[in-house]
Amino acid sequence: MGIVAVHHPDYRIHWDPEHPLKMTKYGALADYLAQHSAVIPANRVCPKPATPSLLAKVHAHQYIEHFLNGTLTASELRRMGVIWSPALVKRVLSAAGGTCETVRQALHTGFAANTAGGAHHAHFDHGAGFCVFNDVAVGARLALDELDVSRVLILDCDVHQGDGTARLFAEDDRVFTCSMHSERLYPGRKANSDKDIELPPKIGDEAYLAILAEQVPMIVDALAPELIIYIAGVDVYENDNLGNFSISEQGILERERRILELAKVRSIPIAVVMGGGYLDDVNHLAYLHSLVFQAAVEHYA
Ligand SMILES: [Zn+2]
Repeated sequence: MGIVAVHHPDYRIHWDPEHPLKMTKYGALADYLAQHSAVIPANRVCPKPATPSLLAKVHAHQYIEHFLNGTLTASELRRMGVIWSPALVKRVLSAAGGTCETVRQALHTGFAANTAGGAHHAHFDHGAGFCVFNDVAVGARLALDELDVSRVLILDCDVHQGDGTARLFAEDDRVFTCSMHSERLYPGRKANSDKDIELPPKIGDEAYLAILAEQVPMIVDALAPELIIYIAGVDVYENDNLGNFSISEQGILERERRILELAKVRSIPIAVVMGGGYLDDVNHLAYLHSLVFQAAVEHYA
């Protein structure tokens, strides 16, 4: 047995080590899971990279082409906060393909997690906030168009609001977007999710978990989704470089346990993507991202 972990070798690329997004964290997470396979048994699945036509389920053709060809302007790339390279193109395509594979696997087995993904600031015709293509939105559309799913809940617990996802699905009643985030952080101009749970800076484990327990089961029961895509951002962590919450490691583990349990007891397939997490210590970051896999083993292995 074991849980499904979706990973592609192209998730590892060379990247400016001074960049706030430590691109080596995805490889470090895969290594951590391999090294701890006795306690986190995982079946690793390698996804196919996303094709342009798959990305076109939520993105403008011209934007897709310009990114793939390296013809975006300097100011467009600045807004995205990424350093373009052919390796980045491969990485982004494999991460989006990875989230689609994670959705397929979750619908098959109940749970699957991508070791990357969660590019929730990516919009229809532009990227932003380190996000190029909105893999979560692509995965949701794939489920609706091709996998016989009629209602999707996107549950976004990254410390930043999922503004791209909210805008992409503003007119689509089949997708309910719920974002639980800091009221004071990026993006400056928030979008309207179907449900925004705005939390104050410095919120700690007890208050955070109490709000989660009060709000999220209610949303799930009212909606009865056939698929949950969960963005398990660990930038809620107390020492995160870009976050402002005071959530401990134990608090993150508890969050993952509760969300997975919620899905499990209702028999709702859950596809997990990693989302944000910004520490200088990449191994510590990989450990934080591994907590959702640890919680999954308790419920699904
Ligand atoms: Zn974030």
